[in-house]
Amino acid sequence: MSKVPSITLNNGVAMPRLGFGVWQVDDEQATTAVGQALDAGYRSIDTAAIYGNEAGTGKALAASGIDRDELFVTTKLWNADQGHDATLRAFDTSLAKLGLEYVDLYLIHWPLPSRDTYLDTYKALEKIHADGRAKAIGVSNFLPEHLERLLGETSVVPAVNQIELHPQFQQGAARAFHARHNIVTEAWSPLGQGKGLLADPTIAQLAAKHGRTPAQVVLRWHLQLGNVVIPKSVTPSRIAENIDVFDFELDDTDLTALAGLETGSRLGPDPAAFDVV
Ligand code: NDP
Repeated sequence: MSKVPSITLNNGVAMPRLGFGVWQVDDEQATTAVGQALDAGYRSIDTAAIYGNEAGTGKALAASGIDRDELFVTTKLWNADQGHDATLRAFDTSLAKLGLEYVDLYLIHWPLPSRDTYLDTYKALEKIHADGRAKAIGVSNFLPEHLERLLGETSVVPAVNQIELHPQFQQGAARAFHARHNIVTEAWSPLGQGKGLLADPTIAQLAAKHGRTPAQVVLRWHLQLGNVVIPKSVTPSRIAENIDVFDFELDDTDLTALAGLETGSRLGPDPAAFDVV
């Protein structure tokens, strides 16, 4: 049995609260890293067409021998493929690369508001969902204003919005908006991409207090906030460390200290402006 508890999405689908991210992992390395993650107990994998490792990820899933219904596979539609018909074609390509008959979660990677195609794109996701080829659909990097439009003009409430979120960029307003609309907040770069955040002295103190590592403290913070997390590592000891976060608790003082780390600065692009295709 998996050590990771699940959250129930707004359509009743269960999603593991912690998964494995594979951005910046090449296709061959993805087979190794995803295999190590599955061995360590991860059952949820977060990839994307643009990562170029859906095939390598799929190989690891197949080689694991784990029942399909125990796995939770997310992939994402890349920007260049937005638009109704292009989305349907891109989805077919992703499924074929993954070697799967369905994904558990399909996300629009970025809203690209300047192109104004995310509504048509989302309607294609609704079709994919209705056909049973994605058990849940959602978005990534959508600001509340983009979600408002989707909620007003489409039928299926996104199950998830995957956004940049870590102690230095806590996304309070977005999290509150998601909670009001029963959309799960999934944190990308949950460890702040490693280096700077994990060397923070406040986090080091909390790690010492709990006898844990800085990464474990940060992941525990996310879980206590209600976020789904998808830490990435290609280092076996870290892969194991990052899933070992379900047997300790931060207290109110710890949470207050972590709340103080907000800088208001993103590591990644601003979704209102990002339009790379
Ligand atoms: P993370 O915040 O997960 O940090 C990953 C970095 O931290 C790597 O350099 C890794 O090093 C290091 N690291 C991991 N675990 C530890 C540890 N226990 N101790 C010390 N260092 C550690 O960054 P990502 O940007 O990769 O985000 C996670 C996932 O989110 C991505 O892989 C992707 O799936 C998703 N994502 C989605 C985006 C979107 O637009 N929707 C954008 C960005 C990410 P090493 O691998 O060398 O061990």
